[in-house]
Parts: sequence; C-alpha cells; structure tokens
Amino acid sequence: MYKAVIGLEVHCELNTESKMFSGSKNTYSKVPNENISVIDLAFPGILPLPNKEAIRKALKLAMALNCEVPDIVKFDRKNYYYPDLPKGYQLTQMTKPFGRNGHLTINFNGEEKKCTIHQLHLEEDTANMDHYDGYSLLDYNRAGIPLVEIVTDPVFNDEKTVIEFLESLRSIIKYIDVSEASSDKGQLRVDVNISMMKETDTELGVRAEIKGINSFNSVKEIILYEMERQREILESGGQVKQETRRWVDDEKVTVSMREKVDAIDYKFYVEPNIPVVKLDKEFLDEIRKEIPALPYERELKYISLGVNSKDARTLVREKAISDFFESVLSLGGDAKDAANWMTTRLLGFMNTNNKTIEEVYLTPEMLVELINMVKSGKISSQQAKEVFASVLEEEKSPSEIVKEKGMEQISDPDLIRDIVNKVLDENPSQLETYKSGKTNIIGFFVGQVLKASGGKANPGVASKILNEEIVKR
Ligand code: ADP
Ligand code: MG
Repeated sequence: MYKAVIGLEVHCELNTESKMFSGSKNTYSKVPNENISVIDLAFPGILPLPNKEAIRKALKLAMALNCEVPDIVKFDRKNYYYPDLPKGYQLTQMTKPFGRNGHLTINFNGEEKKCTIHQLHLEEDTANMDHYDGYSLLDYNRAGIPLVEIVTDPVFNDEKTVIEFLESLRSIIKYIDVSEASSDKGQLRVDVNISMMKETDTELGVRAEIKGINSFNSVKEIILYEMERQREILESGGQVKQETRRWVDDEKVTVSMREKVDAIDYKFYVEPNIPVVKLDKEFLDEIRKEIPALPYERELKYISLGVNSKDARTLVREKAISDFFESVLSLGGDAKDAANWMTTRLLGFMNTNNKTIEEVYLTPEMLVELINMVKSGKISSQQAKEVFASVLEEEKSPSEIVKEKGMEQISDPDLIRDIVNKVLDENPSQLETYKSGKTNIIGFFVGQVLKASGGKANPGVASKILNEEIVKR
C-alpha cells in the first residue's frame, strides 16, 4: 500500500501600490505592458529601490503564519536566463528569508492538523509569457510585482487536506490584507510536489513537481491524477522520475516538461545594489499589532459560544462577515441566534442580490434589536422573519417596521383568552376529536388562535390558555 507525500510552494502577489523595486503601478491590467518602467525592463544602469510596504506585508504574513522572522532585510540574486526575466537574475531572499519554521493549524473533519511551513521569502514576480504556434508574447506588467513564496514541509497525504490548507491560507492572506489572493488574476499560484511511499518506508519517495497551478480545483485534480500515475509505476516495479511536469487541463493529464536530475546551480550571491537594512524591534512590533484575530481562532471562539461548527466555519470565511458577527457579540447579541440569522437569511439575501455585507442595510445594532424583540416577547419568531426580510428590502430599522405594520405581539392573557374561546366555539368537531384522546390536534387550535389574532398572539401564551379553557369544557 502506497501513500502520497505532498509539499507545496505557494506564490502570492502582494497588493502594494507600486512594484517591488520600481515605482511602476502594481495593478492588475488586461492591457499588456502598460505598467512598466526601465527598472522592470532591466535597462543598463538601473538601480532597484526596495518597497517598504512590500517588506511590511511580507513580514506580516510571516508573523501570521507563526514564522521566526529575521532582524535584517537582505536580498540575493538568483541567476538564470529566461525571457520572462530581463535582468538575467531574480531578486529573492535566499540566506535570510522573512520567515522560517512557521505553521498553520487547520481543522479537518473535526481533527486539528498543524501544517509546518519550512520557509517564506519575498521576491519579484516575472513577466507573463503566452506561447503560440511559432512565437511567444511577453507581458511585463507582472514583472517586478512583489511576490511572497511560502514553502511547506512535505506534510500532506491527500488532496482534501491540501485544499483545506490552501483555503485557510487564502483566508489569512485576506484577513491581514496583504493580497486580494485572486486565482483568476493569477495572484495565488501553487507548485505541487508529490511522491509516493510505502507505509513502512523510512525515506521519502522520488517526487514530481507540477508548477504554476492557479486554481484550487486543478490542484485537486492534479494530486489525484499523480497519485494514480505514480502508484501504477511503482506497483509494476518501475521507478518514478524526478521531474517537472505540466498539467494539461483539456486532457486532464500531467506531461513531462523537464527532468530534474541535479539541483540547478543558480550561483546565488548577495545583491550588491541594495544595502542590508536592520529591522528594529519597534518596526516589527508595530506590524505584529496590526494582525487581527485570525479565522481559526475566531472559529474556535464561536464554537465555544454555542454556535455549531458548520455555522462557525461559514461565519469566519470572510473577514467582513466575521467582523459583523463580532460587533453583534460586543453589543450583547445572542451568539446562537445571531449565527442563525446570519448564516441562513442574511447570507442568502446577499447571495441572491449579489451584495456584500457592507452594502446591506442591516447593521449589527439592528440585528441585536431584532433578536432582543423576540427574546422579550415583543414579537413572535414568525413575525421576526417578516421584519428581517423587510429591513433588508425596505431599508428601515426593525422598530420602524414593527410600528408601521402594527406587529407588536399580544401577550395579554385576557385578550388571548377571548380569542381562544371564540376559536373553541367555532370548532366543535375538532374539540370532540381532542376530547376523544387525539390531543395533538392542539396544534390546530394554536394555529387558529394565531390566525384570528392576525399573527400577533404569543404562541406560548396561546397554547397555555388553550389547555386551561379546553379542560373547562
Ligand atoms: P526545490 O527547491 O528543488 O523545489 P525543495 O527541497 O526546496 O526543492 O522542496 C520544495 C518542495 O518540495 C517543498 O514544498 C517540500 O515540502 C517538497 N518536497 C521535498 N521532497 C519531497 C518529496 N519527496 N515528496 C513530496 N514533496 C517533497
Ligand atoms: Mg520547487
């Protein structure tokens, strides 16, 4: 029996104003070669100037991933020639990466898994190449965009855990606002390293590397495909080659690109044009302070407040939604009730109307108001659903709607007793049925009382008084 061993290299473009070493705009553009400068194109005599914001953001991500961070900034040249790299070398961090020995804890099917991160470093992105029949096109908009690379240890054994890790990572990246992390815009790209080994083996097997994957769904398909491909080779007595492979999406297969016998010698050396800079403690502390409570921490907190784990997961997926929920909690709103309203009706409304939580009329204050109206018996939970919908659609506060629709719940026993007796008078045959022992027909009477009161009678009070009055008959 073979099991898979998987390690990831995740590349994430940072959302800074300008590029890593030039003043060119760092924005996604469909117009090729729009955001470029002589620095990005490596004209002779140019000098790189590191982007402080990119440094802050890369360090922030390293900290959020529990990495050890260095006390200096130092860049190295990684020498190789490729058309997407006009300088003939890439500026990266080889000797002093911004992060080492980090981890990201994920929760998978109720089990906690600590995914260890070997290294995180900051570098510059390369140009984009499109290959056609006999020629290629180069777009340098991407050249020089600050890029963070996160390298995990080979700690994964199946595609599901990998996807969970990637989803969690993306969510953290967005929580700390260092990247939009959009796969469609190529801002998050994954290299998958995968090998197979026997449960009893002590050494890792030979791996294949599949580079530059920009959809999580492809990551999943590639892992499943490679597991099968490598298993077949090994089971028939063959050996897996160490190589770089490419995913052909149309055919759903990986094909060999190049064999990787020895490690390529990149002749790394310290970039001489960028002085080594000391990172002082205050600068690092300031960055650390900006990191908000992260999704997994929030998820555990919500579960401890009685929210079920599925809802807790839904609430933390997006920071803005989780922040809304946090505000409800800090206003004293009931966690379970709020989670319920939010995961069902609020997210449902946002989905159908294609609105973000910032765009809906409902505020945390209004949600707390509504929850408390039900708790205090002012309106019934049935009425609350109507109020909730009206808040979103008519853009008025819960109290305004309750007033306008004359919705206050009737809890006055005398008023309800009158209605109860009227209902009992009008339904003699159902009363017979009840008396003959079929007591669950009580639900019918409660329904009639609610109807007769225009939905305003408090159902709890109504059913109590119904029981009292039926006995008298
Ligand atoms: P390189 O720089 O040549 O790609 P690294 O040793 O830095 O090689 O490893 C890169 C990635 O490959 C890491 O994510 C690591 O976890 C993973 N990896 C290394 N060895 C294996 C293996 N035998 N099987 C699966 N993944 C591996
Ligand atoms: Mg690699």
